[in-house]
Amino acid sequence: MMRSCCSYFLAFALWVTYATSSFSSLSYANRDSTLAYDLVITNARIVDGSGNPWFRADLGIKDGRIARIGRIDPSQASKTIDARGQIVAPGFIDVHTHVESIYSLPAAENFVRMGVTTLVTGNCGSSSTDVGQFLGRIKEKPLAVNLSTLIAHGSVRRQAMGSDDREPTPDETKKMEALVEQGMKDGAVGLSTGLIYVPGTYAKTDEITNLARIVARYGGLYATHMRNEGEKVGDAIRESIQIGEQAGLPVEISHFKISSKKMWGQTPMTIGLVRDARARGLMVTVDQYVYTASSTSLDSRMPTWLRAGGFEEGKKRLADKATRERVVKEMKEGLKRSGFKDYSYAMVASYQPDPSFNGKSIAEITKQVRSKGDVTNQIEQILTMYEAGGAGMVYHGMNEDDVQRIMREPFTMIASDSGVREVNESVPHPRGYGNNARVLGRYVRELHLLSLEDAIRKMTSLPAQTFGFRDRGLVREGFAADLVIFDEKVVVDKATFEKPHQYPAGISYVLVNGGLVLANDQMTSERPGQALRRSGS
Ligand SMILES: [Zn+2]
Repeated sequence: MMRSCCSYFLAFALWVTYATSSFSSLSYANRDSTLAYDLVITNARIVDGSGNPWFRADLGIKDGRIARIGRIDPSQASKTIDARGQIVAPGFIDVHTHVESIYSLPAAENFVRMGVTTLVTGNCGSSSTDVGQFLGRIKEKPLAVNLSTLIAHGSVRRQAMGSDDREPTPDETKKMEALVEQGMKDGAVGLSTGLIYVPGTYAKTDEITNLARIVARYGGLYATHMRNEGEKVGDAIRESIQIGEQAGLPVEISHFKISSKKMWGQTPMTIGLVRDARARGLMVTVDQYVYTASSTSLDSRMPTWLRAGGFEEGKKRLADKATRERVVKEMKEGLKRSGFKDYSYAMVASYQPDPSFNGKSIAEITKQVRSKGDVTNQIEQILTMYEAGGAGMVYHGMNEDDVQRIMREPFTMIASDSGVREVNESVPHPRGYGNNARVLGRYVRELHLLSLEDAIRKMTSLPAQTFGFRDRGLVREGFAADLVIFDEKVVVDKATFEKPHQYPAGISYVLVNGGLVLANDQMTSERPGQALRRSGS
């Protein structure tokens, strides 16, 4: 026992001294198809995604898979990455994205540069309703990253019955059921809802439970942007859990947060509801982006009844003076209930009729374009902007203590809620450029809120386990070679609310299915991404 232990350490000592470079570097030898590996990563400090402490080993990659973990002679491969001084981890899996437009930006650079190798889209009730076609496009339009999708209740409901504020007829229910079932057959990983958005907001709990039962039969999960993240967040969590319990499927609560100032500090209660459900044997997990601001549409501030039937209908209703007054009154009351004194917490991310509004708050804009800047005028400004087509917004509505308390929970995964970003287009939320790097730089290295190993687990094996990616999310022989190489002492997010279009630092290599999509800090032209369909479909 003692002897084998000592010889192990002797071998270990010899092995760590044989590397000479202190920086990672990529080198090529002669290509030779008889070689055991396509690529060898040497001197890696591996954080394997399980949460276990790091260990040192070489990785041999062959045909897109991790073929061997151990000590490997680099001459066994045509390519070598010396990862000395760096961390090698499984590629990050971002389970909460909105990348329906990814085929127009197939490099998905903002994700790759955060170390993300797999995306789950179709969140918040909005997805393609033809999952087979959506995932199948990857054949003609290869992507840098792996792509997976949920089938979304809101999109299905809209296709079946428009944007009406009513219950579906039996025929419409059948149509929705058929669309959801087809989506699952085509490989969706679950059902998503967006219960603050039109038309998802008009659905009662039973309508969702009924569709979730179909999803349960196919082994999918239920991912929800809940009905409320403010004053009624507790009720909303209970509704989500109830749907999972009655339909018999796991529940993923999307972008878990408290977004009403009045409710700040209530995370022990909201987290407690999830813990209690888990203690009862229910599979409930959450995801989170690590900022104190959210981002969604401008009309999410407006009453849902106003928006029934869609945008044109809402605009028509607003033309009526009495209706408009009622809207202003309700919005004032809502603002007061949430604890914000005015709309200075609401920043414009993108407003097409006047891009000079981008990056400014509703309070600032109101002062600029109207003579008075009081709350009534701010609400009138919001309504005017809605009538002109609406806007994308960033809302500074959260509290850092709540963000941190949620992050520490073992069932919380890290997800961006972002789309694919085009550099310098509008002033979007920085989460799409910085989320994963921010966890590693700020919350691991600077604040010691999480260990490196636990942070990686929240970005890799936990999302893989929850969404059913059985051969990803861990560094294991036989698993897909989705990997990220970064310097734990350097990794940092650079994107800010003022200047969001900045990539993180410290992430130097990203591999997707063994293909190098980021090498030596540079994007490559490789597009090795795969469509990930629910296991068994
Ligand atoms: Zn959402």
